[in-house]
Amino acid sequence: MAIIPSQQELKKLDDLPEHSCQNCKMVYEGFYCPRCGQRYMEGRFKLKESAEWILAQIFNLDAGFFYTIWQLLLKPGEITIDYLNKATRRYVHPFRFAFIVATLSALLTILSGAFETTDLSQFATEKTEEGVQRVEAVFDFIKKYLSLIMLAVIPFYAMVAKWFYAKRKLNFTEHLIVACYAYSFSLVISWPLILLVLLPDGLFINGLVSFPATIVAMAWVYNKTFKEKFLISVLKLLVVSVVAFLIAMFFATLIGVITALISKSFQ
Ligand SMILES: [Zn+2]
Repeated sequence: MAIIPSQQELKKLDDLPEHSCQNCKMVYEGFYCPRCGQRYMEGRFKLKESAEWILAQIFNLDAGFFYTIWQLLLKPGEITIDYLNKATRRYVHPFRFAFIVATLSALLTILSGAFETTDLSQFATEKTEEGVQRVEAVFDFIKKYLSLIMLAVIPFYAMVAKWFYAKRKLNFTEHLIVACYAYSFSLVISWPLILLVLLPDGLFINGLVSFPATIVAMAWVYNKTFKEKFLISVLKLLVVSVVAFLIAMFFATLIGVITALISKSFQ
């Protein structure tokens, strides 16, 4: 994340003599070490100044988390293009960004009470007590690892998008960067829709509205990144989402089966 010098620091810049870096000992002039980026700090730590500095960095509108969300909303293609062209400093690293957004999304979903208000027995294929218990166990697992499950889909998105945008010659890591921003953006877009779960049958209505919303949000980022017809992006992202989801489910089942086999053989 970029560090922005404060007005005070800029004013004092002229009368700051050459000094050695407090972190790596390199001798330089100015407030930020050119070798390691350490900020030169005068005097002793003071609570008020530290708090001010932290708040300024968090709500920094020229760089950082809010800046990244804001830029995604205003110019969704610019981040991915900037980032792929290595103008990375303004933005939160795509992996870190996806991690923060997924964590917040999972928190919001759990706080909404969606898991408590939904009648889980409707998802059971067998309406026996055992069948309902099995569904409950699955939902408990999903609730516990919700943010990780959200993140686990991203590599599959990147993989499938790479097939659909094969002509663009981006490698897997570059596709992962685009997928991280696009997917995180779609999660941010669905935050207000979480309120829908408060309605009767809310989880169902939420799914009905947020599925197309997330597809369009992701398509928007891909459309701006790869410059094509918007409808093409929407169709591509629809197929990419379904295929990525199916492959992810296949892998999850495979891992589940292998884990079950291993735990059985150790019993
Ligand atoms: Zn240094």
